[in-house]
Amino acid sequence: MSPTIVLFTQDLRVHDHPALTAAVDAGETVLPLFVVDPRIVRRSARNRCGYLSEALAGLRAALRARGGDLVVREGDTAGHVRALAERTGAEAVFLTAGVSRLAARREDLLRRIGLSVRPFPGLTVVPPGEVTPAGADHYRVFTPYWRAWAEYGRRAVLPAPREVRLPEGVAPGAVPDGLAAAGIGTAARDRLTGGEAAARARLDSWLDRGLVRYARERDRLPAAATSHLSADLRFGCLSALEVTEAAEAARAGAGTEEFVRQLAWRDFHHQVARAFPELPVRDYRSGDRGWREDPDALDAWRRGVTGVPIVDAGMRQLLGEGFMHNRARMITAAFLTRTLRVHWRAGADHFHAHLVDGDVADDYGNWQWIAGTGNDTRPNRAFNPLRQARRFDPEGDYVRRHVPELRGLPGRRALTPWREPEPPDGYPPPIADPGR
Ligand code: FAD
Repeated sequence: MSPTIVLFTQDLRVHDHPALTAAVDAGETVLPLFVVDPRIVRRSARNRCGYLSEALAGLRAALRARGGDLVVREGDTAGHVRALAERTGAEAVFLTAGVSRLAARREDLLRRIGLSVRPFPGLTVVPPGEVTPAGADHYRVFTPYWRAWAEYGRRAVLPAPREVRLPEGVAPGAVPDGLAAAGIGTAARDRLTGGEAAARARLDSWLDRGLVRYARERDRLPAAATSHLSADLRFGCLSALEVTEAAEAARAGAGTEEFVRQLAWRDFHHQVARAFPELPVRDYRSGDRGWREDPDALDAWRRGVTGVPIVDAGMRQLLGEGFMHNRARMITAAFLTRTLRVHWRAGADHFHAHLVDGDVADDYGNWQWIAGTGNDTRPNRAFNPLRQARRFDPEGDYVRRHVPELRGLPGRRALTPWREPEPPDGYPPPIADPGR
């Protein structure tokens, strides 16, 4: 029998990997492949390239431990798949189905080579498009989606294959030198370590210690009491289905319910992105939002020097960690699009250039939601940054952690430095009304 090529993309794991398991079950030998495409790398966040490089090393080690290897090539995906198929006699490519325009184009190119391309589930808990409302190809509103999502009959979580046998005579190739430092945006000082082993350790400790506090503390900015699993899910070092089922098995009451709901939000944005591939570039819900060109304000927002401490703290967390707390993402995105009226695309692109978890569906879907051009049923809801700060960082601890210029201001005074008789040195006055 001819080998099966398993093309890895956003699924860098061996546990609960339907495409890999099917290839092991179906063929004599399996050729696990990752192609580093320099055109994609050049547009990716440096923080994601760093994570990717570690995740590839981890995947290679996991496959080697099972008698196989990860074959790595650099260049054009379709070209390398064609060359490897010709060399080994492979006729089929198995992969995890994606939702982006890039994923659709890749599948199309592989089919045109004449290979049998089999997409498998594995990206989300409920595969995009599997639950739909009557007469439409996707849900536009979360609550009915959530109800349908909860009733969906899920597939079983798969164990990692015991053995993976590689065809003979294929050089494994090396992960390109410099991948870890490639890409756009600044490299974060405190980025999470990438790869399946680190991700599974994070999941275990989250289930043991974090989940039970989640419902109570997820919105408290200084507590940082969320899972920090988003990058692991983004790169597929964890399967969203396995994470969901593990959280359910942990029976952490309201913690489980609230956490699983967030995973359903992730699925929701993926099914929107699949049905509306223009999500990163075009309003999902059109209408004139009165956007303004304001390069100075955009620059101050990007650098975290708007003079509004809760906004600056979030933006500096992003630069320092390649991560931002969800509540801070909401506050900073609302400040840019609702207070400054700068277009959501500029903000989403900046997030995308820095987030380790930066993902087309989740980043642009959430930005459009906040900007009022997306799936929010109340697109004009008010969002007052100062009120948000008082509610979610009442003692100013999150602000002082990320904005050193404000460390001398105790308690909630750090939230309103412009009210000080002597404003702190080196910290600017607000560039726009922060609210009351
Ligand atoms: P937890 O609170 O522990 O949630 C568990 C998981 O659920 C997350 O890891 C994530 O996979 C998923 N999730 C949680 N909230 C959301 C949500 N609103 N939408 C979709 N999935 C969600 N998330 C990304 O993964 N990538 C992005 O590029 C991204 N960009 C965002 C941009 C904006 C403007 C906003 C408001 C939110 C964005 N989010 C994005 C969603 C959310 O902020 C992050 O998933 C979350 O902060 C990651 O931290 P965590 O893993 O500790 O989350």
